[in-house]
Amino acid sequence: MEELSIDLLLDAVARYQKEGLDSIKKAYLLAEKLHDGQKRQSGEPYIIHPLSVAFILSQMHADTDTICAALLHDTIEDSSITKEEIALLFNPQVAKLVDGVTKISKLNFSSKEEQNLANTRKIILSLTEDVRIIIIKLADRLHNMRTLQYKSRFKQQENALETLELFAPLAYYLGAYTIKNELEDLSLRYLEPKLYDNYQKKRQKLEKDAKNILLTTKDHIQEKLEEHKINNHIQIRIKNIFGLYKKLDAGYSLNTIHDLFALKVITEKVEDCYLSLGLIHSIYPPINERFKDYICNPKTNYYQSLHTTIYGENNRLVQIQIRTQDMDKIANYGIMTYFDLYQGQTREIMQEKLKRYQFYHSLLEIDEVLGDNQDFVKQVKRELFTEKVHTFTPDGDIIELPKGSSIIDFAYSLSEDIGNTMIGACVNGSMVPIEEYTLKTKDRVHIITDELAYGPKEKWYHLAKTTRAKKLIKSFQEKEHLNR
Ligand code: MN
Repeated sequence: MEELSIDLLLDAVARYQKEGLDSIKKAYLLAEKLHDGQKRQSGEPYIIHPLSVAFILSQMHADTDTICAALLHDTIEDSSITKEEIALLFNPQVAKLVDGVTKISKLNFSSKEEQNLANTRKIILSLTEDVRIIIIKLADRLHNMRTLQYKSRFKQQENALETLELFAPLAYYLGAYTIKNELEDLSLRYLEPKLYDNYQKKRQKLEKDAKNILLTTKDHIQEKLEEHKINNHIQIRIKNIFGLYKKLDAGYSLNTIHDLFALKVITEKVEDCYLSLGLIHSIYPPINERFKDYICNPKTNYYQSLHTTIYGENNRLVQIQIRTQDMDKIANYGIMTYFDLYQGQTREIMQEKLKRYQFYHSLLEIDEVLGDNQDFVKQVKRELFTEKVHTFTPDGDIIELPKGSSIIDFAYSLSEDIGNTMIGACVNGSMVPIEEYTLKTKDRVHIITDELAYGPKEKWYHLAKTTRAKKLIKSFQEKEHLNR
């Protein structure tokens, strides 16, 4: 690769916008001056780091303020410049972004000190004011993880663990799967180097062995779609190393992982997605229960696609993901895609779009209910930075809940009314005791309600795991109390 320079960055930006190049150049020169004499552990001049972060963001077509802030992101921390000075030299938005990123760097998710807890809360909530702070931080973390080989063994493990616990889930919540996958693989590489090598080799072998089968399957599908005049572009994808490790570690065997190999079919129009699905099923038989329509029912991070798993050439299981170009961009970069879909300064648009993400609402709810900083951080970890189960309504809508959630959590995630009038529940066709059942991924849950029900029982409050359920149960109990 050509060595990174400010000219390369300016070229990259000029490819998607004409404005802002002067400000970007100015931010670069200032950062270079402020970091003068500082070196990275690799021995390179420090400026190469902010420049790389800005370059990563330019690949997502980030706006001028975001690129400027990326160039300046370590200056408040590492030099004498202040937020106010940056505001005067650029604008208050750039200053807020740099300040926000600086605060996140001090984040310590596992600390128990009040000062840290208060800080953690502020940082997490900064997302609800300007998500671009988190986006810059993700690019910063990505570059640091890519260059982690120069750090001490202790620092490597510490950073890798924090990345796995905090930043990879954040990337997932924002729908940026490309970033999530890379962060996970890099974390595993430093946390479990031997295991990583092992799985990397395994993956290479799988790739080699399946190559011809995948290419033939791809050609057949392409031929069929072209026969029906559906413009398309097909990519082959193999599960990332971390994903492979998780599946095999959970006891799956290579032949039973339904999405080990995938073909991404990118079409022009939504209706072509559905037509393609039918055509593909007409040549390769699908596994019935594996079909999912995430176009009609997007995931909670706004991922959209049709999924089906087929028996491809030689009866090899291949997952097929069918989506439009815009959906594909969103599948790769999540909310960052709106940089590209709406040019110019994108803060307002992004904050508006963010309201569609479940993560945003969960955070605000936890903030509203829990005053104590320690309780807040604990609950965010327990509810958001934890494993999830994916359950379904009878209509096939996905309900994502933290692992260990109950029927009570499910009912209240649908609506306050459904929770308050619930008298029973059917899971996968059988009645279950609502106070005892723990939800599992793929459960299809039908809540039975009765308008005359007395309302939530007192102990439901303790059985609920999610903040939403607890909040709604409490509010019912308080209203009851007033009516008495
Ligand atoms: Mn940095």
